[in-house]
Amino acid sequence: MSRVLSVEDLGIGFRSEGQDFTVVRDVSFSLEAGETLALVGESGSGKSVTSLGVMGLLPPPPQSRTTGRIVLHSGDGDIDLLDLPESRMRRLRGDRIAMIFQEPLTSLNPVHTIGDQIVEAIRSHRRVSRAKARARAVELLEQVGIPDPQDRLGTYPHELSGGMRQRIMIAIALALEPDILIADEPTTALDVTVQAQILDLLRRLQKDTGMAMLFITHDFGVVADIADRTIVMYAGQTVEEGRTETVLSDPLMPYTIGLMNAVP
Ligand code: ADP
Ligand code: MG
Repeated sequence: MSRVLSVEDLGIGFRSEGQDFTVVRDVSFSLEAGETLALVGESGSGKSVTSLGVMGLLPPPPQSRTTGRIVLHSGDGDIDLLDLPESRMRRLRGDRIAMIFQEPLTSLNPVHTIGDQIVEAIRSHRRVSRAKARARAVELLEQVGIPDPQDRLGTYPHELSGGMRQRIMIAIALALEPDILIADEPTTALDVTVQAQILDLLRRLQKDTGMAMLFITHDFGVVADIADRTIVMYAGQTVEEGRTETVLSDPLMPYTIGLMNAVP
């Protein structure tokens, strides 16, 4: 397997009302092409902040401060993401790393049709005609399991269910043909049946595309279904890391056991 991302001794802090406080400490992990790594921990443990650090989406210094290294490994060599100029980082976000969030309604533009939003994502990534991009949008909608994709291009986000909106967000992420997909609690806002469908979809897409996935969740119940490896975070630090089946069958830390027992 080839490595696509290395995070080394990541530290992230914020400044608020003249006070500095650290919310992520000494977090290290790597991600290989074609694998899913779950980042699990209770609310406030630093999972989202870690992923925003990888995406280069934290507030600029001095409001936030990041230490350590985040390295993207690509065909063009290694790219150190910290200290990268924002213009280059924006490019990488469009081309290499895509992200989906818990609430797709806030990420979709309410006044544009989903067809336009997917076409725009495709054309921001590749120079293709509108007609080609529309054809590709239909393919992507098919790929994420939207029925009658041709007819759906003209619909607006509010006309769709939460599960369908998450499928649209996944289509937009796939339009970028990312090496890495960061999924931050992508199923948390969905009911259980739809959750399972979205997990199935992500698993299948990952197999088909060979992308790496960083799957963030507070819910230990879903990691067995999706993750090859699991990292448990507590208060900004990793307290456990290993193959998912090992973490689940033989947790080392009382905190991990507590999280597992919290699964409904
Ligand atoms: P979670 O594991 O639930 O995703 P987060 O990574 O969102 O947790 O948050 C970790 C900690 O960082 C929390 O205490 C949160 O309040 C704090 N935090 C997150 N974003 C900011 C910010 N922009 N400014 C200050 N503190 C923040
Ligand atoms: Mg979060």
